[in-house]
Amino acid sequence: MHWGLIGASTIASEHMVAALRATKAAPRWVVSGSADHADAFARTHRIERATTRLQDVLSDRDVQAVYISSTNEKHREQALAAIAAGKHVLCEKPLAMTVAEAAEMVHAAAAAGVVLATNHHLRNAGSHLAIRALIADGRIGKILSLRLHHAVHLPPHLQGWRINDAGAGGGVIPDITVHDADTARFLTGEDPAHVVAQAGVSGMGQGVEDSVMSVWTLPSGAMVMAHESFTHAFAGTGLEVHGTAGSIFATGVMTQRPVGEVVLVTAAGREAVPFSPHDLYQRGVAAFVNAVRGTGAPAADGRDGVKSLAIALAVREAAVTGARVNVGYGGL
Ligand code: NDP
Repeated sequence: MHWGLIGASTIASEHMVAALRATKAAPRWVVSGSADHADAFARTHRIERATTRLQDVLSDRDVQAVYISSTNEKHREQALAAIAAGKHVLCEKPLAMTVAEAAEMVHAAAAAGVVLATNHHLRNAGSHLAIRALIADGRIGKILSLRLHHAVHLPPHLQGWRINDAGAGGGVIPDITVHDADTARFLTGEDPAHVVAQAGVSGMGQGVEDSVMSVWTLPSGAMVMAHESFTHAFAGTGLEVHGTAGSIFATGVMTQRPVGEVVLVTAAGREAVPFSPHDLYQRGVAAFVNAVRGTGAPAADGRDGVKSLAIALAVREAAVTGARVNVGYGGL
């Protein structure tokens, strides 16, 4: 299966090129706004063809799928062009800048009969899959609450558009809150109904928020507490799910690597929960490839990408207005 990489990005460089190759999905093209950058990326990663023209990739009949990891404001236009050319699309989060734009991408892919998936890698983590299985098996009873700790320190090489360019989709909410929103949906099977939030700048953001805390209410009445930041060097990450029959404590699991610990606490005591150490991105690519072949579904599809964005943007609106905001899912 031949792929086009749209965006010569850090995430492609650090994780996705290797993940594609591990699943026998060969990147044939890389597209970048800069010819020098495209060439350098292609040389570094031994990719056959580099271009600044998206059309070069889309007109290559051997290319079946594209992976979009440009800055956020470009995702919609690039995805719609790829879909119109009949390519399957694995797109980075957030899918787009608005819920309506993201929903438009989902409708376009459905009409064209191509797969649209969102690269929410955390769904593919062995730790998250193990937590979801504990919940599904009834080990903690009825869910009462979920706490998501995802305050990290943005490494220097990522302190570009994320911290100073609202037009490119910067800010911690489109960057990390979307992942937490997807995690909450993945683990609870529920779509938050309304949210309250406070956001601010704590040393890094320039014109965009770099820290946010929010509370979401699920239709069942369970509540989610989420904390995301770019400025917390020593906080560590994790999540807790509390239920009527037990609690799950997961530390170090909101990350790109297959690490961390999961502990189940019930009336019977504490139990360390084992989980698979597989690569998160490889599992996501493998699911995408199966979906293209018609033998499976993406780990997170386009609809999931719309919903995580809807929750994140509701959090931002709640933080800006101070109001409780109902989450609108764009009709999906
Ligand atoms: P980068 O800042 O590394 O890359 C984004 C774009 O910036 C590139 O596509 C490229 O533009 C341009 N760029 C980067 N480096 C250079 C350079 N040296 N010279 C010229 N242009 C350059 O972004 P990230 O990899 O951090 O993020 C990309 C996308 O992936 C975002 O949507 C982000 O939200 C998502 N992401 C997802 C993660 C996940 O785990 N699912 C993790 C990290 C990011 P051009 O498109 O023109 O090549």
